[in-house]
Amino acid sequence: MVTTRARSRQLVVRSSCAGAVALPKRGRSETETRGWCDRAVNGSIVVLKPALDVANAIDSHCPYCALQCGMTLNHQGSGLDRAADCRAELEITPRDFPTNQGGLCHKGWTAADLLTNGRRLTQPLMRRGRGEPLLPCSWDDALDRIASAIKETQETHGRDAVGVFGGGGLTNEKTYLLGKFARVALRTAMIDYNGRFCMSSAATAAQRAFGLDRGLPFPVQDIAHTEVVLLVGANLAETMPPIMRHFTALRANGGQLVVVDPRRTPTAQQADLHLQPSPGSDLALANGLLHLVVEQGHVDAEFVRNRTVGFDDVRGAVRAYWPERVERLTGVPVSAMRKTVELLGAARSVMVLTARGVEQHATGTDTVSAFINLALALGQCGRPFSGYGAITGQGNGQGGREHGQKADQLPGYRSIDDAAGRSHVAGVWEIDPDDVPRAGVSAYEMLAALGTDQGVRNLLVFGSNPIVSAPNARHVEERLAALDFLAVADIVLSETAATADVVLPTTQWAEETGTVTNLEGRVILRNKALEPPQGVRTDLQLLSSLADRLGCTASFPTDPEAAFDELRRATTGGKADYTGISYERIAAERGVFWPCPADSHPGTPRLFLDGFATPDGRARFHAVDHRGPAEAPDVEYPLFLLTGRVLTHYQSGAQTRRIDALTEASPEPFVELHPSLAEHYGIAEGADVQVVTRRGTVAVVARICASIRDDTIFVPFHWGGAGRVNSVTNPALDPDSRMPEFKVCAARLELA
Ligand code: SF4
Repeated sequence: MVTTRARSRQLVVRSSCAGAVALPKRGRSETETRGWCDRAVNGSIVVLKPALDVANAIDSHCPYCALQCGMTLNHQGSGLDRAADCRAELEITPRDFPTNQGGLCHKGWTAADLLTNGRRLTQPLMRRGRGEPLLPCSWDDALDRIASAIKETQETHGRDAVGVFGGGGLTNEKTYLLGKFARVALRTAMIDYNGRFCMSSAATAAQRAFGLDRGLPFPVQDIAHTEVVLLVGANLAETMPPIMRHFTALRANGGQLVVVDPRRTPTAQQADLHLQPSPGSDLALANGLLHLVVEQGHVDAEFVRNRTVGFDDVRGAVRAYWPERVERLTGVPVSAMRKTVELLGAARSVMVLTARGVEQHATGTDTVSAFINLALALGQCGRPFSGYGAITGQGNGQGGREHGQKADQLPGYRSIDDAAGRSHVAGVWEIDPDDVPRAGVSAYEMLAALGTDQGVRNLLVFGSNPIVSAPNARHVEERLAALDFLAVADIVLSETAATADVVLPTTQWAEETGTVTNLEGRVILRNKALEPPQGVRTDLQLLSSLADRLGCTASFPTDPEAAFDELRRATTGGKADYTGISYERIAAERGVFWPCPADSHPGTPRLFLDGFATPDGRARFHAVDHRGPAEAPDVEYPLFLLTGRVLTHYQSGAQTRRIDALTEASPEPFVELHPSLAEHYGIAEGADVQVVTRRGTVAVVARICASIRDDTIFVPFHWGGAGRVNSVTNPALDPDSRMPEFKVCAARLELA
């Protein structure tokens, strides 16, 4: 156990993780043994009161990634101990839930730390003017200032001059009400969210192939029961380690794992076969594999004939991807491709899974389509224990893209242009359908135009840190500075919040109840475990207060269950139909899979068994061609730069960089490079180096490892400042999903 003495007025807190690699020893804590809790007042530790001998255990889920591992929050004491001024002892234990089967990663083990370590916001902050510091203020002053700024902007520049930027970590209740707030209270078309930077390519490809986007169309437990998994562009052993239990079970059952990744990641090291294509060449590889599937006679002709359309075009397109050509395009040996197709062709059940490695490209949608084509040709979609799935990243990356915080969407995964959908949702909102704004612009397009005559001039940000996480982040930072007004609601003073005119401190996961939809499409419930500190409010409360100040008479429930009940009604008849899902059912059934259109409906763990969600029930093939990265290496910038995540940090790092055990494990931004590259550049382990692209320079520390290609470097994106790699990535957008090309661009290395 690690004891952390929090700064200022916080309590003694025990973190459950003793470091990056040493997982915690569980057992009675020091405070439990002593029987009292401490409080730091003006730097002194004083005894507050004896702790009562009552154990409280609240079942919940991790606040971070989309696996949404089950956990239990335990704390000693009476109800009084749940109050913000006495959070003496809070400990996380893993819970046996289908996704994590009793496992947690380092982030989950330490998730309680930010509830108590004194690094979160507890007071609204306001800047009196440009260049003035952010100073504490009352909630009334903060909300009044935001409301008057909104009115002033809209009166001068029109409704769409005010924008809303949400996040994939917000609960379903929040995303739903955020979308309603934008359309009903602000009447702006300008709302989008950071999930555009995660899942949009997979979502777009799944929509056009199956008529529906739900990350995994099957429960994760099915992984153990398939015969072959082709896992593309996903480093699950580091990004969501407990899911590897399902892959271990797969192999124990005799199944095989094939990993496609330019890096020999910890995930690839566990594979039966690792294909290591050059960055940006996955589409060519998928077409090459399908070429061999056709050549070797592994196409499931009956499935293709009865359940799909468009195969002839695809078969024609992949003729040009003969193995030797694909080897030249991708660097993957013909023998490895043949071995892969042998495995795929012989298996009775196959899963093809993709993640950000293939999706965060300017060709992301087409690349995912190429892998869906492969799964369809093998006859592996819409059957038990097989199919195509995308591994969602953010905690509510799935629910976050279903309920209306996307520019082109209304609740229930409805298109905002669908007349029937507009009418239904407007009915729930008790407004005229014609008053629902039309589609706005996507996330990066909104951010890139901030502060311009045509763009948003007044922005409200909820639970997102675009200064670190957006593509072309330096430009985005400049655009944020050009706004007339910026308000940020967050739990910590993130890099983005630090630049705001007003900052609103909001509750964290364990301080509020709400639902999240995990990577399987399973709607789960996070239970409130303790009261928030004084001075902190929920997002639902602040949306309601702001709507009031704007003179909006529509209802904005502050009770999460009431908000969820309204969301359920709004989704009725939509693709993501939550009508039959209630808090009660979620608790009783360990989550409910959508669609669930009635109370009596069992939910839908496995999609497409009876047909795809297209008008004729058939899946669509899409012929796609290799285009390569938007920016290829050349003489000046000879290397591929890849970006991604590390084990101990989450997204922009706003939360995990404030947890000591995690920052001790990964304290600084680094570049991973091959020994031969290090020798070529004269770079030693730990040296200060600069990664240079056409968009600028990022300062990092060298980590030399043989697990990466010698033409490729890797930098994680969890840091701001000089180590912010998103300053230098390529903002080229996918034409269909509007996904920026985070994953690859051309770069060179320089010694600092
Ligand atoms: Fe949390 Fe994801 Fe880690 Fe599970 S894998 S503990 S959900 S961060």
